[in-house]
Amino acid sequence: MKRALVTGGSGGIGAAICRRLAADGYFVYIHANRNLAKAQALVEAIRADKGQAEALAFDVTDADASRTALEALIADAPIQVLVNNAGIHDDAVFPGMSAAQWHRVLDVSLNGFFNVTQPLTMAMIRSRWGRIINITSIAGLTGNRGQVNYSAAKGALHAATKSLSLELASRGVTVNAVAPGIIATDMIDGVFNKQAIEAMVPMKRAGQPEEVANVVSFLASEQASYLTGQIISVNGGMI
Ligand code: NDP
Repeated sequence: MKRALVTGGSGGIGAAICRRLAADGYFVYIHANRNLAKAQALVEAIRADKGQAEALAFDVTDADASRTALEALIADAPIQVLVNNAGIHDDAVFPGMSAAQWHRVLDVSLNGFFNVTQPLTMAMIRSRWGRIINITSIAGLTGNRGQVNYSAAKGALHAATKSLSLELASRGVTVNAVAPGIIATDMIDGVFNKQAIEAMVPMKRAGQPEEVANVVSFLASEQASYLTGQIISVNGGMI
């Protein structure tokens, strides 16, 4: 049974990805930071559906804590599907953006990508099969007012996706990004109202976390074996 790790599995999109990968037959490690109880509740729900899962928690901005947790995880076998989904936004128009807002957002999304991915890569390479899927954002493709920090982090992840895909392509490891538009989770509560969504999204609705998870499921599968270095945006036609 292949093992998958989903960072930010305690959040809205991450939880949908965990449920979907468990239904696809993976053993899923559901990662959390502050909300380990949510990840544990999801483990119970997955087990009730005859899936296999376990919860774990660490702060992806803490390189040492991340490495320690991950090395324990791969002591006997590699993680073969890694979904880098943990992320935050902290919006402000640029003249009013504090250095703390800038650094924190980049620290979670971009340095977190490094802290989690790097320790897992060699074992994946040795096994000659792997899937790295980065959850980015449409903001990393188009930019967004009030999100210079967030779009910089996500845009950098797009570039990292492409570079890492080139390094790993000949080793059976694919690296892709999924860039959601507006997805109905806690993250967008209070950010977009119904009218704003109707104005911005040709499909006139927010996406569901499951609609992101469907794409992740495909990218993780054998069917996606010739697909690497790509950014697939799930956005209801926004771009
Ligand atoms: P949520 O706020 O629901 O979830 C965020 C997740 O990230 C949580 O599981 C949280 O863990 C985890 N996390 C935050 N900080 C850290 C940290 N320092 N270390 C480890 N984990 C951390 O967000 P969504 O589910 O909506 O978003 C998931 C991803 O999708 C993000 O990368 C986001 O940028 C991206 N995205 C979301 C969109 C949307 O419209 N919702 C649109 C485009 C992209 P915990 O709660 O346990 O602390």
